[in-house]
Amino acid sequence: MRKINFSAGPSTLPVSILKQAQEELFDYQKQGFSIMEISHRTKIFEEVHFSAMNGAKKLYGLGDDYEVLFIQGGASLQFAMVPMNLANNGVCEYANTGIWTKKALKEASILNINHNIVASSENENFSYIPEIKFSDNADYAYICSNNTIYGTQYKNLPQTKAPLIIDASSDFFSKKLDFKNIGLLYGGVQKNAGISGLACVIIRKDMIKRCKNKNIPSMLKYSTYSENQSLFNTPPTFAIYMFNLEMKWLLSMGGLDKINKINEEKAKMLYDCIDESNGFYKGHARKDSRSLMNVSFNIPENKDLEAIFVKEAEYNNMIGLKGHRLLGGIRASIYNALTLQDVKTLCEFMKEFAKKA
Ligand code: PMP
Repeated sequence: MRKINFSAGPSTLPVSILKQAQEELFDYQKQGFSIMEISHRTKIFEEVHFSAMNGAKKLYGLGDDYEVLFIQGGASLQFAMVPMNLANNGVCEYANTGIWTKKALKEASILNINHNIVASSENENFSYIPEIKFSDNADYAYICSNNTIYGTQYKNLPQTKAPLIIDASSDFFSKKLDFKNIGLLYGGVQKNAGISGLACVIIRKDMIKRCKNKNIPSMLKYSTYSENQSLFNTPPTFAIYMFNLEMKWLLSMGGLDKINKINEEKAKMLYDCIDESNGFYKGHARKDSRSLMNVSFNIPENKDLEAIFVKEAEYNNMIGLKGHRLLGGIRASIYNALTLQDVKTLCEFMKEFAKKA
């Protein structure tokens, strides 16, 4: 029996994708071998590879001015690749909204990049998205669109003339975005769009050309991936295969507007459950900053109940609800592959648990 999986990442996958992968694992499309067993230089793999890239572009409605790159090293490598490739002797500006932006800032420091924090919500334990004013002439303006641990998310992207760089790891492919100011959007795909081992980088082509730094090793340069269509070396072929299935699944669901509608419904149901609990449950994020993807909450009256909640939930077939070690409490990640029914089951459990306590 499959569990209802609220893990923050890697996370639950659509059942239809798992079944297709299972079916094709031993014998890919009657070829007599698995997709994992063939060269990335074959036509068969290339079809998967380019279909995955095209699917990503189609979902976000992107034209020829953007390119999709597949890079290993997770989202974490992008913390360094972004400043290495895109700092341009000016200043790079960051909004600090949690651990993942702090980690990005750390890499900019290690690289001795001239950077500023122009807004932060650290004063209130990252429970909100701050007001941000980026300088128009910054080399880039960096944000994390969804803060996986604290459960906050931008409702609108900040307006700026500087190219926006977005770590979208935990709300990747969950809703349409206005790409007008976006220079680069990236994420590890293991939360909302596949499995670990692959980061997807969507980059505006002029950003690749802007890079002035000549001392970047090949594997750390965006231009290397661009010039070789992300086939410079052996890519993570199985992760790309799974990402392709996920793109096809999202398209078959009706695209990002449709999935966003379902995500909104799921999140509303869960936040209503928290808000209507007479204070038994308390959400971490300020209401105007609440994430549709990660819902972090506590049982403020009696913290000991939180561990019992997680245990009892497991007993009831629901896993992955323990909060991140930095914040504690409970966290339900309700990414694309979680269904309305899954969230309904959680809410029923929460109501029952509060009644019994
Ligand atoms: N950014 C965000 C918003 C994340 O949630 C995570 C992982 N939880 C990362 C970056 C780091 O991703 P990776 O483990 O793929 O390096």
